[in-house]
Amino acid sequence: MSDSHSRDGEIMLAENITGYYVMENNIIHAVENCSLKLRSGDIVGIVGESGCGKSTFGKLLLGYDKPPLKLISGKILVDGLDIYSMNFKQRARKVWGIKISRIPQYSMNSLNPVLKIKTIIKDYVKSKFPRIPERKILEMARNRLEELGLNTDVLEQYPFELSGGMKQRVVIIISTLLNPKVVIADEPTTALDVSTQRRLIEFMYNLVRKNIISSMIFISHDIAVLNQLCNYFYIMYAGEMVEFGKREDIINNPLHPYTQLLITTIPDINPAIKRDRLKDIPGFPPDLSAPLKMCSFMTRCPYVEDRCKTKPPVIELKGGRFVRCHLFGK
Ligand code: SF4
Repeated sequence: MSDSHSRDGEIMLAENITGYYVMENNIIHAVENCSLKLRSGDIVGIVGESGCGKSTFGKLLLGYDKPPLKLISGKILVDGLDIYSMNFKQRARKVWGIKISRIPQYSMNSLNPVLKIKTIIKDYVKSKFPRIPERKILEMARNRLEELGLNTDVLEQYPFELSGGMKQRVVIIISTLLNPKVVIADEPTTALDVSTQRRLIEFMYNLVRKNIISSMIFISHDIAVLNQLCNYFYIMYAGEMVEFGKREDIINNPLHPYTQLLITTIPDINPAIKRDRLKDIPGFPPDLSAPLKMCSFMTRCPYVEDRCKTKPPVIELKGGRFVRCHLFGK
């Protein structure tokens, strides 16, 4: 599959990633042949509705293929390191938090309520670098808080003393304290109110702008949230990448019928599309317990044709954009 954009300054390259949930009596084909590239300064959005495989793809990108999830094929390089050439213990020691970090959904709940923030930070850094002096860890934490405009008093507080938004920022500071090249944020704004969401998005944007982290992958069902932050979009449906492009191209001219549907669900993001394109598409995503031999969107697509009964090719367009739909082939 050649559905990735080729550019210089690559930080991360994920090629042809296929991952399944392998259970005793069932296999879920959660991610099929998905690729992604990141270069320094990129903030990339992976967008799709619940169950489309985006969080599973995020776990596979991290190298976290814990059973029943299993990487079936593909390769991931982060800062030149082939993460699937290492076992789980090696990844925990050399990759997670150092090359790549993940901020999961509801991560604010991951802070131990009976430990002060400074203790949580010290324990985290010591799990990676046991010999580093505590004084040095606290200095790193203070510098990072100041760099991001936060009060260093938070180090002496317990998680229960902090607001939801502050807890989320503390988790992000901990996840990025060792300056990983890539951060994967999986729906980090889900549990927050709108104004806290906006502040958190600005905070995350600053992490990349200030070069604290090189690049970010932001996973969400909410394309309106991602529209404020990302420079590229990958659109996922039923475990496949169905469209990739620059943010403005996807918003102003979505090509895949599923991307058009996503855009129409957001009030005012592009009023022209809301008026003229798809109003609603009934139906559900396909059953992923068997490999798909047709276009994954066929049962819901208003433009379906006979040739959609086979899997559509990935059609590459100008500027590295791609779309997985027969309508754009020759
Ligand atoms: Fe619709 Fe056919 Fe394109 Fe699939 S390949 S999205 S069914 S037109």
